[in-house]
Amino acid sequence: MVSKLFTVDDCPSGLFLNNEWIPGEGEPLRFTNSADGELVDIPPLHTATASDIDKAVSYAQAAFTGEWSTFSGEKRGLLLHKLADLIIEHAEELAYFESRCSGIPISFVRRGIPSMASVFRYYAGWADKYKGDYFPPTDGFYKIVEHEPIGVCAGITAWNASLLFLAWKSAPALATGNTIIIKPSEKSPLGTLAVGYLVSKAGFPPGVLQVVIGEGLTGHLLSSHMKINKVSFTGSTTTGRKIQDAATKSNLKRVTLELGGKSPAVVFDDADMQKTLFWCSFGITGNTGQVCAATSRLFVQETIAEQFVNSLKESFQAIAEGMGGDPLNPATTYGPVIDKLQYDRVSEFIQTAKHDLAPAVGGEVYRGKGYYIPPTIFLNPPEDAKVYREEVFGPVLCIKTFKTEAEAIQLANDTDYGLAGSVYTQDLKRALRVSRAIRGGTIGVNCASVVGPQVPMGGFKLSGVGREMGEYALRHYTEPKSIWISNYSAA
Ligand code: NDP
Repeated sequence: MVSKLFTVDDCPSGLFLNNEWIPGEGEPLRFTNSADGELVDIPPLHTATASDIDKAVSYAQAAFTGEWSTFSGEKRGLLLHKLADLIIEHAEELAYFESRCSGIPISFVRRGIPSMASVFRYYAGWADKYKGDYFPPTDGFYKIVEHEPIGVCAGITAWNASLLFLAWKSAPALATGNTIIIKPSEKSPLGTLAVGYLVSKAGFPPGVLQVVIGEGLTGHLLSSHMKINKVSFTGSTTTGRKIQDAATKSNLKRVTLELGGKSPAVVFDDADMQKTLFWCSFGITGNTGQVCAATSRLFVQETIAEQFVNSLKESFQAIAEGMGGDPLNPATTYGPVIDKLQYDRVSEFIQTAKHDLAPAVGGEVYRGKGYYIPPTIFLNPPEDAKVYREEVFGPVLCIKTFKTEAEAIQLANDTDYGLAGSVYTQDLKRALRVSRAIRGGTIGVNCASVVGPQVPMGGFKLSGVGREMGEYALRHYTEPKSIWISNYSAA
């Protein structure tokens, strides 16, 4: 592939600090192609050390109080629009970089790039409109509430949709005048590094958005840094706890956590079968199940269970037949999981579940190259089965049947997570009743795994703290400041 912005040989070549590529002082990072298990043929990138992170923070601080602080909301908005334009212009290269190490089919990544650009445009619109508040001097004081940027922020992201997460964190941060340092997953940082470069091409001053790479330790250096005022994280609940802990033990930095899930899909017998089959299948096989909001627990009304499950099995079998395709081939729609570690983790869930019951479909080991896992269904797993309770983050679906609406709600809510859920029915009143009863941050009625810039995204319970996107995210990147003005004339 010939790329327009970078050639494959000089693609992202270091940390992106202060609008320049700077080699990290840490260990070399190599990347594996999950479609064949071979090393990706690019020079290694070096990780950031503590001193690299200090450098990034001091650039970010200088930008926060320097030229960037003089930009009007309108000017910040124009830059965000320019960045969105560049993202669309370079969509093919970004998709290539993103797919290269993650094994996510390029067809899937491409679809996400316009969504990413939309997030920057949405917050460009907010940049000069996120006003504060005012209260009249009925008590002898005028009161003004201003929303001040928090300062230097950090974004730590997972690999399954790095570019979207980058946008969800940096767009509201920049719209409100903060600076931000992003750390993508060590497993697939190329796309995020490339966007760092586009930020500089859009005309943002040095230090406003920087990208550092490295493993968990690099994330820890950010979340425990005394001069970073906020961290926004997307990843597992286990790591989220560590980040919140590091934030508490350092400078009590503000924390937003977008964590894992075990989301329910509830299918009633009046649902539109073809559309429901599509969404229920997509809800757990899209991105090979590596989606935080994947609907991994399906509850189907007893009256249609046999027919529905048989159709779902056929759909899963058809997907499995497409396994092994090159993720960089636009015709490939179902990719491998990210790496050997994830392959082993998901396989372990399947093997352990197989001790209790045979999979209704899937569950077998793929014999070709690469870390492919066939979409798998377990019917009626025991209540305490690990595969039914814990987030697999792979294409594994548990199905149970229910008789009544009340039973469906009880099953849907019987989880420690609360990220998302879906309800399938043609009865609007029931759809609203059940959506309100499910404890989750996003509920789809006759759809699943949908996100968009206007609407908050985040979790109840173990699925997170705070919200990304929509107006809600702006609150997480600003501190309200109240200014009291004595009304002398009335005194
Ligand atoms: P991890 O939690 O392992 O990692 C996420 C990020 O945190 C990575 O950049 C990782 O670095 C970094 N990290 C790891 N350890 C630490 C630490 N101690 N301190 C600071 N940062 C650290 O998640 P995965 O990348 O494996 O992603 C899968 C998980 O993410 C799933 O549980 C999934 O549900 C969740 N997720 C949640 C989403 C949501 O919006 N709620 C969206 C997408 C995923 P490195 O990878 O380099 O080790």
